[in-house]
Amino acid sequence: MRARILSPTDDGRTTFHRDGVVAVDATGRIRWVGPAADHEGAISPDGGAPAVPVIDIRPLVVLPGLVDLHAHLPQLPNAGLGAGLDLLAWLRRYIFPLEQRFADEADAAALAPAVFRALASVGTTTVLAYGAVYAASMHEAFRAAERHGIRAILGKVMMDRITYDEEIEPSTILERSMRESEELCGRWHGAADGRLGYAVTPRFALSCTAEMLRASADLAERTGAWWQTHVSEDPGEIAEVGRLFPEARDYVDVYDRAGGLGPRTVLAHAVHLTDRELTRLVDTDTRVAHCPASNLFLASGIMPLARFLGAGLGIGLGSDVAGGPDPSMFSVMRVGAYAQNARRTLLGESEPSLGPLDWIRMGTLAGARALGLADRIGSIEAGKEADLIAVDAGLTAPVRHADLGAPQHEPIDDDPADIASRLIFRPHPEMVRAAWVRGRTLEGPGLAAGD
Ligand SMILES: [Zn+2]
Repeated sequence: MRARILSPTDDGRTTFHRDGVVAVDATGRIRWVGPAADHEGAISPDGGAPAVPVIDIRPLVVLPGLVDLHAHLPQLPNAGLGAGLDLLAWLRRYIFPLEQRFADEADAAALAPAVFRALASVGTTTVLAYGAVYAASMHEAFRAAERHGIRAILGKVMMDRITYDEEIEPSTILERSMRESEELCGRWHGAADGRLGYAVTPRFALSCTAEMLRASADLAERTGAWWQTHVSEDPGEIAEVGRLFPEARDYVDVYDRAGGLGPRTVLAHAVHLTDRELTRLVDTDTRVAHCPASNLFLASGIMPLARFLGAGLGIGLGSDVAGGPDPSMFSVMRVGAYAQNARRTLLGESEPSLGPLDWIRMGTLAGARALGLADRIGSIEAGKEADLIAVDAGLTAPVRHADLGAPQHEPIDDDPADIASRLIFRPHPEMVRAAWVRGRTLEGPGLAAGD
């Protein structure tokens, strides 16, 4: 296709073609990307008809598909509810009752496709997500992802204390939860030719005994699945973890003792890490999903992002729907940028702030790296799979940007940082116009249909 093309690259730069072509082969791989003028055989030099049909979608901007490293599939219906509560009160009032609805397979079968369509419509082409505790609902969620075409790594939530699970005996829950997780992993990990994956998903230390954490980490190790949980989100939670796990040195050590740290692990939040915890996560190459919108919505805190990045921590972005009220990763970038500016102004931090292109990188290639998938997705480079989105950077609410008269900085179309800044800070709900995974069109509200 012919479009403006903006992408981070594996060597740490950003490429931008104001008139570019990305060519995708029949297997859904990017065969070629570069300036349209250099695309031999597709765009004829004299401006006549191309030898190979090229869909011209200029002035839309094509970006790599966004990677959401942390979301909760059953929670989208309650997104935006419960602001002002702390984490544990919010879970009990708004989340556990909602997830219990997933005991009904039909509810899950109805909701899951709508969630994937919603994610695609805001440009998310890869999601790492939690389900509910019910195995049947997870099969429904995987089937929905398989049909929809989104790239999804999902896991059944495991809890054997502070739970909504009906079993009384923690040991019974543990046995059943392990059996069901193993069965789901066997069925879905690597399915759809590697587009679907399984993440063993103990909810967090407060909801899991040390036995469950250990057994779940062992399952991930044996199967090559991912392992995901939450860490160091909220001061009240951290204090409670200290009380329940007196033998552990700190929160990260709870997971370390369970054998849960490593490059296949994605920990959500990690807001309040001590220096020891930070060093341990870096040393074990454990990955983190930074969820700034959720962290402010639930007043959990603001991650010292620049310091953690400087220490070498592998960080991508997560919406944490519904702890975060908005599934859009552009919104997550915006809130993240504001939150980091708040840190700088209030605390006088001197680390360099991230610019718009840095946030785009965090929401694409860094997320892919966190999942160990950067060889396949995360940037628009030849040889990678064509997980792409097309966005209209000229759309701004409440009126089109063009209706405001000539831009003072003309035109934004020539400057990738300006384009990224516009998408992050002046987003329009319908600016994502199309999304593809492996070159195949994803369906969602407002998205163009057809390949
Ligand atoms: Zn979460």
